[in-house]
Amino acid sequence: VAYVPHPRNLGELQLIDRIRNRASSKPFSALRLGIGDDCAILKPPPHHDLLVTTDFSLEGRHFNRNWNSPASVGHRTLARGLSDLAAMGATPLAAFLSLALPKSAARNSTWLDGFLDGFLALANLHNVPLAGGDTSESPSNHILADIILLGSAPANRALRRSTAKPGDLLYCTGALGGAAAELSTSSKKRKPSSAASNPLLSIHYSLLPASPHLFPQPRLAVGAALLRRRLVTACIDLSDGLSTDLAHLCTASNVRAELDLAQLPLHPFAAALDEAAQITALLHGGEDYELLFTASPSTKIPRSVANVPITRIGRILKPQKSKPQMSITTDNTRFELHPQGWEHLT
Ligand SMILES: [Mg+2]
Repeated sequence: VAYVPHPRNLGELQLIDRIRNRASSKPFSALRLGIGDDCAILKPPPHHDLLVTTDFSLEGRHFNRNWNSPASVGHRTLARGLSDLAAMGATPLAAFLSLALPKSAARNSTWLDGFLDGFLALANLHNVPLAGGDTSESPSNHILADIILLGSAPANRALRRSTAKPGDLLYCTGALGGAAAELSTSSKKRKPSSAASNPLLSIHYSLLPASPHLFPQPRLAVGAALLRRRLVTACIDLSDGLSTDLAHLCTASNVRAELDLAQLPLHPFAAALDEAAQITALLHGGEDYELLFTASPSTKIPRSVANVPITRIGRILKPQKSKPQMSITTDNTRFELHPQGWEHLT
């Protein structure tokens, strides 16, 4: 599991060496042993729970080499897992990366080096050691990356999606629709855009990600602050889009939700789209990796947490047979909202 050099072909050994040489050798308190033995050894902080999440990043499904630079793929592979930890208020402990490269990409290290640039810049920003993984030659012409992230949260305090209560108010971080808007622009160009240079190398933190699709910013500091300050009743990250992730939260918590379209924070990238595309990007555009959370109406939610703006976007209610699980109001008209769709309420 930990990049042990088995007697494999030279290509794979070189691949492992390249990853190993690039991974940080600085000491991390939770990591007792990193890359180099059969297993990594981790020691979570005392009185903490261990949280684990895994995410596949598959070429053709989650990214496309025509418009995702190697650095963007590396960044996004890690960002997806970090966002899941952020959603539960966890602090990352270590990342494990399994990578399958087609022969062409393995022979020439340019793609791998770019991938590691993006991956390790984000890992360093959030102080996450790359502690192991595996490599293999891909049996197809597709790149496959699998990330496993371990994190910790104070015992019994991790935020969940299943604990929203009727009467709670609904909030989100940052802005929505930016990733969908950027993807629709860059996929039209059919080549990596100029924004594909990694903004993390120059800009360390901004209120909104400068490149929300290519380099999304997982909201780890916000999630940890929401947990620490006991501000929320439930939390989920917006990976699949507001309509889909809100449905997950409502189903898990057995509640319904009402949104107000005018309150949804539109990312400036999406402001350039026509109105119908804006609404689609806001409600159904995935991969913004913002946090969606609920709080008791008696809790004062600050305008920003960890320098990220927070917006109230709706409310949580008791489920009713006659009412849809999710609805949205615009211009005094109410619509039933479905995951990835909506229809007029009669
Ligand atoms: Mg998630």
